[in-house]
Amino acid sequence: MVEYDEFLGVWMTCDNKVELIILNLRSISIDTQKKTAWVQTGATIGELYYRIAQKSKKLAFPAGVCPNVGVGGHFSGGGYGMLARKFGTAADSIIDAKLIDANEQILDRKSMGEDHFWAIRGGGGTSFGIITSWKVKLHDIPEKVTVFNVTRTLEQNATQLVYKWQHIADKVDDNLLLRLFLRSNISSPFKRGQRSINAIFFTMFVGGVDELLHEMKKSFPELELMKEDCIEMSWIESIIYFYIGFPKGTSPDVLLNWNTTTKKQLYFKGKSDYVQHPISINGLKAFWMKMENSKRSLDWSRTLYRYMAKYVSKSPRAAYFNYRDLDIGVNNINGNTSYEQARIWGVKYFKNNFDRLVKIKTKIDPTNIFRNEQSIPPLLS
Ligand SMILES: Cc1cc2nc3c(=O)[nH]c(=O)nc-3n(C[C@H](O)[C@H](O)[C@H](O)COP(=O)(O)OP(=O)(O)OC[C@H]3O[C@@H](n4cnc5c(N)ncnc54)[C@H](O)[C@@H]3O)c2cc1C
Repeated sequence: MVEYDEFLGVWMTCDNKVELIILNLRSISIDTQKKTAWVQTGATIGELYYRIAQKSKKLAFPAGVCPNVGVGGHFSGGGYGMLARKFGTAADSIIDAKLIDANEQILDRKSMGEDHFWAIRGGGGTSFGIITSWKVKLHDIPEKVTVFNVTRTLEQNATQLVYKWQHIADKVDDNLLLRLFLRSNISSPFKRGQRSINAIFFTMFVGGVDELLHEMKKSFPELELMKEDCIEMSWIESIIYFYIGFPKGTSPDVLLNWNTTTKKQLYFKGKSDYVQHPISINGLKAFWMKMENSKRSLDWSRTLYRYMAKYVSKSPRAAYFNYRDLDIGVNNINGNTSYEQARIWGVKYFKNNFDRLVKIKTKIDPTNIFRNEQSIPPLLS
């Protein structure tokens, strides 16, 4: 048994499986001078955002939108949020880490080496040890950012707007993240059972409203964004705004409250894809039909996933590791998993990096102590 401090226990059970319990390992220390923070892996991203804002109005960290997500899995699998276009993913801002390896040694970046450190920043911590804390780089942020939440229906030209959005969202000013949600809603109480599509542009701009309007007029005039649609607020207020839409002025304390998120938000089945070429107008219209016509269920999400195959990345059909999806392939529950078997799901998450991850795993954990249904296998297994 390893004892790291009073809050962490690691037990080796008789079938050579490591059980991990992290309790309260959630302290966060911020250095505003050096613009860095050490975050223990029991903390949530909401707690990290909260502690940064307590110390400084001019620093921020780029990670996910839902504050209840833990930094342990989220950072080690990537972690994107509303600052991703400007500062990258959470994993991009990790500069050091402490972890317990398969030999029960406590390592930091220097002692684990650059390959191992690379693997835990996107390859998932779970295959490579037990991370106890991250050191992250904080980023300068202006005292005001601007947000808007604008919905357009099909009658308000949503199809053309989504088509245009696909062409510009990755090319606009890096300060602008034009997030788009597509939802099918009951269109009107008078058309019983009929659904309609809403395109919801839920957006963050790192800067003031005038600059944002200038950029939108240049890149996306079709949205007809008005000054009244926009709200200037501090970065920490924007976190609360994007988190299930709390109004401006809500106390940041909600970021510390686990009960604020409903169970429905915490437990869901997600599937992910990468659209590499814009979907045509006809393709979008066919997609709306798929969204409008069915009841939501696991089967529906799998049917939609099969249907989307023609529009998304191929060979491999890529997926985002942090949206863990066991439908794309799994390891054996008992016994070893071969490289070939794991490669089926592995290249979907990691492309050619899968091979590098396998090599690192083979070196640092050859007996596969750290394993689960989608962990990187060592080559000998
Ligand atoms: C409500 C919700 C909103 C989300 N929003 C976003 C978003 O905006 N952006 C985004 O990129 N993703 C988002 N995600 C996905 C999220 O990034 C992943 O679910 C992530 O794995 C969560 O990490 P966790 O530590 O909370 O979860 P856990 O289920 O505890 O861990 C996930 C995996 O990481 C491993 N792990 C956790 N801690 C450690 C550790 N200390 N050392 C080693 N391995 C560890 C676990 O073993 C497990 O395999 C969201 C998920 C939910 C449920």
